[in-house]
Amino acid sequence: MTKLIFEKSIDGMSGIEITDNDIDINTLGIPEKFLRKQKVCLPQVSELETMRHFKELSDKNFCVESGFYPLGSCTMKYNPKVNEYLASLEGFTELHPLQDDEDAQGALELMYKLQEALKIITGMDAITLQGSAGAHGELCGMMIVKHYFKSRNDLKRKKVIIPDSAHGTNPASAGMCGFEIIRVNSNEKGQVDVNHLKQLFVENKHEIAAIMMTNPNTLGLFEENILEISQIAHANGALLYYDGANLNAIMGITNPKKMGFDIVHLNLHKTFAAPHGGGGPGAGPVGVIESLKDFLPVPVIDFDGKKYFRKYDLKNSIGKIKEFQGNFSVLVKAYAYILMKGNTLKNVSQDAVLNANYVKEKLKAYYELPFDLPCMHEFVLSGDRQKKKGVHTLEIAKRLMDYKFHPPTVYFPQIVSEALMIEPTESENKQRLDEFIDAMIKIAGEIDENPQNVLSAPHLTSVKRVDETSAARHLDLRYKNID
Ligand SMILES: *Cc1c(COP(=O)(O)O)cnc(C)c1O
Repeated sequence: MTKLIFEKSIDGMSGIEITDNDIDINTLGIPEKFLRKQKVCLPQVSELETMRHFKELSDKNFCVESGFYPLGSCTMKYNPKVNEYLASLEGFTELHPLQDDEDAQGALELMYKLQEALKIITGMDAITLQGSAGAHGELCGMMIVKHYFKSRNDLKRKKVIIPDSAHGTNPASAGMCGFEIIRVNSNEKGQVDVNHLKQLFVENKHEIAAIMMTNPNTLGLFEENILEISQIAHANGALLYYDGANLNAIMGITNPKKMGFDIVHLNLHKTFAAPHGGGGPGAGPVGVIESLKDFLPVPVIDFDGKKYFRKYDLKNSIGKIKEFQGNFSVLVKAYAYILMKGNTLKNVSQDAVLNANYVKEKLKAYYELPFDLPCMHEFVLSGDRQKKKGVHTLEIAKRLMDYKFHPPTVYFPQIVSEALMIEPTESENKQRLDEFIDAMIKIAGEIDENPQNVLSAPHLTSVKRVDETSAARHLDLRYKNID
């Protein structure tokens, strides 16, 4: 068991030597109430022991560099290190966000060109880079929907239709904007039931503000009726919102504009190779069609033919959604990635789709595949067959860790029982995919022969089963002995 760094503390140890100085704290004019009453309790450890401590912790961590990470809906692709290098250049890191436009031409040019690239990729007419995550982009998009109808004095549109397969952030974002959520069912092909959708528009005439969709949807399936759905939305005066977190399947092949969408958010930290996870910084740019341009948050980055500048005068702007210009370093990484791929961005999506279909075809004899259709960048298996033997999907996930694979997403989407959502991404070669397939097949065999071994997994990880409910509900990250 790893000790906390406080438990490694030895009185008098230190990683640094601070020479005595002659500063009298009382002469600095710091108000009394801000002065510390007692000595700060910090662990006393040498530099070497500190290094060992954090190295040990990082060795316990699983990341894309340690192995295959098929976490569905998260696009855990490899993030090229050159992106990190470029984002750490002094010209970017030392720039203050309040500096004048003239002094920040390079950064503004990068943001402007990233906006232009994302316009091409999505087909949208204008982009804001401000959003700091996918969910934040959704919130921004839903605020645009709200302001759009307000500007038209169309105040009855208080409802948003969302498929039952949607990512949980969709209803959350629409709900935060004050919209009432209506669920549209999926049909037997795992796609939006168009008849149900039509019925919802009849039942809620002139009350629907938007449909929020993901395409490919969270089952990894392409919504075949998307053009009809967009026609239904527009004929009824509603907007069509695209959750673009799954863009990895379609880049350079099709785009949300061609599918009839009006507003799009992207996850640069998924599709465009910026590291993510653990709540790290992300970026959720939002794109809109021409008629919604004026609603974007300010400032947007513009170019007058000579200079790049931050533009604040948008007539109907929803305001600001993030301080300064968003998570700039993520934008640098995404732009570097797009430049590096250039015209081969399409290959990324083709390879991602190929990899997902390969793994799906190899596994479907061993696990149930509820929707047996060609998939896009990911697919969803069901552990129902294994459940009949007393083994749940959670245990399959835990057992995979013994085989040194990060588990897939489990129990999502909720419309598939015992769901296992697998997204290999384009980064993996056939050898790795085969190793994962072998492990999944072996686990299916273990469940048939000796389920106990799977039920008590993981056996080889440093931490075994944790009480996940308590860990989430009673988060305790504080060392006990400190007040
Ligand atoms: C990841 C994801 C989101 C949310 O993105 P965050 O950056 O985690 O807020 C929304 N929708 C879908 C489909 C996603 O996969």
